[in-house]
Amino acid sequence: MDNDCMNKKTCGDINPPTPWNKGKTFPTPDNIKNRSEKKCSQCKIIKPIKSFHKNSTQPDGHHNLCMGCRAINSKEHLKNDIKGRKYRNQLSNKWRQNNPRKTWATRTIGRHRHAGFNISLTTQDLINIIKDLETCPICNTIFDWNYGKLKTNGNCPSLDRMNNEHHITKDNIMIICHKCNATKQDRTFKEFILYCKNVYKKFGDNLNE
Ligand SMILES: [Zn+2]
Ligand SMILES: [Zn+2]
Repeated sequence: MDNDCMNKKTCGDINPPTPWNKGKTFPTPDNIKNRSEKKCSQCKIIKPIKSFHKNSTQPDGHHNLCMGCRAINSKEHLKNDIKGRKYRNQLSNKWRQNNPRKTWATRTIGRHRHAGFNISLTTQDLINIIKDLETCPICNTIFDWNYGKLKTNGNCPSLDRMNNEHHITKDNIMIICHKCNATKQDRTFKEFILYCKNVYKKFGDNLNE
């Protein structure tokens, strides 16, 4: 017994601890490489080395989990991830439903940026423009803000570049319904007014019939 032991009183009464490595055999680099079987660290079953996928980062060149356990894990992971993806989608769908105008503004800016337009207004600028906008300024249709589902209809709002500039600013856009935008097409606003005037001049009388 160690004479300098601080716990002389108790120290003498207990058995000396068993060395942690007593009776254990340790693999040497050589017999690791030539292993014919291995214990799976998940199912704890000793299986032939063929039952373990190759893995060059392990000393014995094989995975620590047997093929069966790895298959189970990846299936489980996939299942969990599908759940996670569904959950994330549900959350963002809900957010879009609750924030239809923000969704519309974000998508509109994104789409125009993607199409290569030079944009000098932020999503927040656009949100400020549309925040109290209820109807189309041309035809008075009540806007269907449609929280950004892929399907749009004629009553959904759209961003019109009034004079078809490639540069989009706060001052050269108008938010009009899809139907009006489809009618105006790439006419400048002036051309559009002349077009309407023309239609009225030629066919306005028909309104009385
Ligand atoms: Zn296993
Ligand atoms: Zn309209």
